[in-house]
Amino acid sequence: MSIITAKGKQAKESLNKKVEKIDFKKLYIRLKDGESCRVRLLSAEDYCEYFAHASYANGIYTQPCIKPVGEKCALCEASDTKTKGFDGLYAKKRYLFAFPDLDMGAIRLFDATKGQAQQLIASIEQYCDDLDGLAFIFKRTGNKVDTNYSLSPIIRLNDADKEKFAKFNGMTIEPEFYESGLQPRNRTHQIAQLIQARFPASQLFTAEEIKESQAQIDEWETTKNGGVGVKPI
Ligand SMILES: [Zn+2]
Repeated sequence: MSIITAKGKQAKESLNKKVEKIDFKKLYIRLKDGESCRVRLLSAEDYCEYFAHASYANGIYTQPCIKPVGEKCALCEASDTKTKGFDGLYAKKRYLFAFPDLDMGAIRLFDATKGQAQQLIASIEQYCDDLDGLAFIFKRTGNKVDTNYSLSPIIRLNDADKEKFAKFNGMTIEPEFYESGLQPRNRTHQIAQLIQARFPASQLFTAEEIKESQAQIDEWETTKNGGVGVKPI
């Protein structure tokens, strides 16, 4: 093992390689009530399951549980304490669907709850024999607990749309694609989020962990307040 990761030509290649920053706004399909987009499906099985934690009331947004990758998940531990106000934090199954977006010309992800996924999978299975030639309107209706997502086939595509559709012919979705869309937080970040949410962190985590997480919060505050050296008021 060496801390030098590349030498000479290799280092130059690495230097010139563009850092691919993922634009999550483009990657994820997020629709408001009544909005829709046009998609197609590359197979009847382009979705995956993962475990996620979220507690919107506490400012903890959907993020993968890190237990499946062998890490100690602070959000699982916090949830296990059954602390009042944090009862919704337990890991729940969520589903990522990969849809080629015809108008954007890119494969995008849609993050669904279990109920939404069941409905979508039922639609996909209904049309599974015709996916090679069928485009769909992917539409959201409703809000909060009454939010539904539907896939309805588009009866006819014009020539320009057929071209947009054909652009994805022969493509397949690799597991890495789903991975790239998930943003797991490490344990320090997780504990920092819990501290910010006023979870009684000192009862559960070590002093060292709290210290590291506090330093992380200070760093976030510094960035938020305009950069290094600017102390939050
Ligand atoms: Zn977890």
